[in-house]
Amino acid sequence: MVDSPVESTVGLPELRHTAAHVLAYAVQDLFPDAKPTIGPAIDNGFYYDFDRAEAFTPDDLARLEARMHEIVNADYPMTGERVTREAALAQFANNPYKAEIAREIPEGEPITLYTIGAFTDLCRGGHAHTTGEIGALKLMSVAGAYWRGDEHKPMLQRIYGTAWPTKAELDAYLLMLEEAARRDHRKLGQELGLFSIEEDAGGGLVFWHPKGAIVRGIIENFIREGLAERGYQPVVTPHIVHEHLYEISGHLENFAHGMFGPIEIEGQRFRLKPMNCPGHILIYRSEGHSYRDLPIRYSEFGTVYRFERSGTLHGLTRVRGFTQDDAHLFCTPEQLQSEFEQTADEALRMVRAFGFDRVEYFLSTREAQLRTETDEIAENAIRRALESRGLPFEIDAGGGAFYGPKLDINVRDAIGRRWQLGTVQVDFLLPKRFDLKYRGSDGKDYPPVMIHRALGGSLERFFGVLIEHYGGAFPAWLAPIQVVVAPISEHQA
Ligand SMILES: [Zn+2]
Ligand SMILES: [Zn+2]
Repeated sequence: MVDSPVESTVGLPELRHTAAHVLAYAVQDLFPDAKPTIGPAIDNGFYYDFDRAEAFTPDDLARLEARMHEIVNADYPMTGERVTREAALAQFANNPYKAEIAREIPEGEPITLYTIGAFTDLCRGGHAHTTGEIGALKLMSVAGAYWRGDEHKPMLQRIYGTAWPTKAELDAYLLMLEEAARRDHRKLGQELGLFSIEEDAGGGLVFWHPKGAIVRGIIENFIREGLAERGYQPVVTPHIVHEHLYEISGHLENFAHGMFGPIEIEGQRFRLKPMNCPGHILIYRSEGHSYRDLPIRYSEFGTVYRFERSGTLHGLTRVRGFTQDDAHLFCTPEQLQSEFEQTADEALRMVRAFGFDRVEYFLSTREAQLRTETDEIAENAIRRALESRGLPFEIDAGGGAFYGPKLDINVRDAIGRRWQLGTVQVDFLLPKRFDLKYRGSDGKDYPPVMIHRALGGSLERFFGVLIEHYGGAFPAWLAPIQVVVAPISEHQA
C-alpha cells in the first residue's frame, strides 16, 4: 500500500481529479462497454476521455451525474497500491489505452493503482482522501477528442465536468458562466453591429463595422494623446518585408511557428510582419544617435499577422491579424528604470480610464537555458519599477519573450475573469543583432537598450474584452451611439 499524503486541506486540482475518477466509476457501472483512458483536472473542472462506439447523450449525462452523486455520498476512501508492470497490464488486459500508459511508464518509476469502491484506475496520484470531500459537481458537456491529441489515433468522447468544495461555489460558478454567455463579445458584436469575421475572407481576420470603428477611433485617440504627452514619435512601417529581416532579428529561428509562410516575388521571399520591432529598429539604425538624443520613443498602431490554428481562433480575442498599440524605446542602461517606470504609469492610466480597477502584474522571466547576465539587469529594472509604484506582482518563470524578460499586465473584468492585455519587455538582444549604436559622452559607441511595450496589447483583443466587461453597454464617452432622440408621435418630429 502507498501511504496517502496527509494534507490538511485538499486543493482544487486534487478535488477535481478525484471527481474524474468518480465519473469513470459511474461510466463503468452504467456503460460497461466504454473504455476509460485519461481524466485530468483542468481550469474550473475536469474531464475524462472514453472510447465507446455509441455517443453519450444529454440523457446519459443526467444518469451519470445521478450515479456520481451516489458515489460521492458513499464517501469511499481513495486507496493507492504500488504494483508491478505485469500486474498493471493484467489488470487492464481489456483496455489498450491503459495498457499503453502502463507500458510507457519509465523503468524505475512507481506504477500505482488507485481504488474507490469497486472502481480501480491506473493513476500517478494526487487525490482527495475520500469521494465525500467533493462538495458539489456537475457534468457540463461532451466533445470529441483524439487519443493523445493525435488526429491519426482513435476518436474518443470527452465528458467535461466541474467540481467544487461547496454547493455555493458551484452555484456561483454556474451563474458566472451564464453571465459570461450573456456578455459573449461574438454575440454582442453581431447584435450591436460592431464587427464581423467573414467566412469568405478567412478565419481570425476582423472586419470593423462603422459602430465598432467609432469605438476604435476613440480608443486610438485616447492612446495617441497619452503618447504625445510623453514624447513618443509616431512612425509607420510596411506590413510585408523581405524575409532576410526576420533572419537578422531571430524571428525565423525563434518564432517561425507563429508566422505566415513566405510570399515569393521575383524569386525573393517576403513575409507578413508578425511584430513591429524590426521595422522600428531599421528606422533607428538609419541615422546616427548621440546619448543626448536618448531616450528615443517610436510608436505605431502596427498591424501584425500571426499564424494560429483554425481550431483555436476565438472572436476578437484570438485572431490572425491584429493591430497593436506598439512602441519601442531606445535608451541607455541608466535610463532603463525610469523609462520602465513611466511605461508602467501609462499602462495603469490606460486600464483605469477604460474602467478596470483590478490590475494584476506578472514578471515573466526567460527559460533557464536562455538566461544571460543581462536578464538580471532587466528583471531588476522591472522589479524596482513595480516596487517604486507599490504595485504587487507575481513571477511567471519561463514566460518571457525569446529576447528578454517582460512585465505582463492583466485585468479582472466585471465578472472576475482575468484577461492579459499589455506587456512591457526589456531587450538587450535585438540591439546587438542589428548592431545598433549610440555615441556615448566619452565619444565611444554603445548598444542602446530596447523596451518593447504595447499597453492595450491588440486593439482587437482590447475591444473584445471591453465589450464583455461592459456587457455591450459602453460608458457614454466610448459609446458609438450616445443619445437617440425618439419622437413620441409625428407631431413632435
Ligand atoms: Zn487519479
Ligand atoms: Zn517589439
